[in-house]
Amino acid sequence: MPVRLGLAANRLHHATADAALFRWLRASGAGIRELGIELHAVGRTHDAIAAAGLLDGHAGLKRYPYGRDGGLMKLVAEVVGMEGDARTLDGAIYLIDPVDPSSIFPEAAALKRQCVIHGKPFLSTVASARDWIENERVLAGLAPDPGADALHAFEAQTLALIAHDAMKPQMLAFAAAHYEALSRFARRVATGTTGQRLNEMAWSRGWPQDTPWVHRFHSGPMGGDAQIADLVLERQCQRAVFFEDPHVARQHEADIQLLERAVTTVTDDAMCITSPVVAARWMDAVGRRARWRAA
Ligand code: PGA
Repeated sequence: MPVRLGLAANRLHHATADAALFRWLRASGAGIRELGIELHAVGRTHDAIAAAGLLDGHAGLKRYPYGRDGGLMKLVAEVVGMEGDARTLDGAIYLIDPVDPSSIFPEAAALKRQCVIHGKPFLSTVASARDWIENERVLAGLAPDPGADALHAFEAQTLALIAHDAMKPQMLAFAAAHYEALSRFARRVATGTTGQRLNEMAWSRGWPQDTPWVHRFHSGPMGGDAQIADLVLERQCQRAVFFEDPHVARQHEADIQLLERAVTTVTDDAMCITSPVVAARWMDAVGRRARWRAA
């Protein structure tokens, strides 16, 4: 069964020859072909790829209706799952231009939310889409692409770790299970309460008691997400692992959206992983790639 991803890009991201959609396809096109990935693309995004010729001969490019005719809405239903496996997507790439009004339409928010709920990747930036393709290549047993080395150079990156209350146990389990790999990052930051719990976990594992494992910003509802967003905008934070609770109304929803929009503002440089299943798969690929590189 081929992997199937929904695909949409806001207008800015396919408007010119060097737009984000094409930067991604130039970096990841070979991997898409090697893995036989199906891209189920909404009308204008599909037509832009076809016109650029970047996936010529790849049978997996499928056309969906234009956004105004429900293309993005259909992707949401298919992330949830339709007609068994026949119309079920494994995740979605939505290259967001944060100041494009369509990026905050309900179907756009629902696309991300249903990816989170169903533990499927929601890839909103060039960096996250590149990273995901490389990780799937490595997990499929293909040799690492040197062009993706920078994405795996954690020693030069800052990682943000954030979890809503219901997701804090899963964040702690994730961080404990991958403590060594996450400790490779040059710097870790977190919102206040998440950070406190993570530091306690690290100290219990022998991290020096007088040094925090993560730098703590304010608690989320007190503005921690906005503080971390500023790091992202300054290109001082390249990755966020943000375990969101999609089942409760959040008092600081605007701050959460702000952080996600910051990530899409620096689309080549930053990414956000929003669910434990996707984060664990990322770590599997990281371990495999590091072992391959060391061999
Ligand atoms: P917290 O913030 O780590 O301070 O709980 C997370 C959030 O709710 O955004």
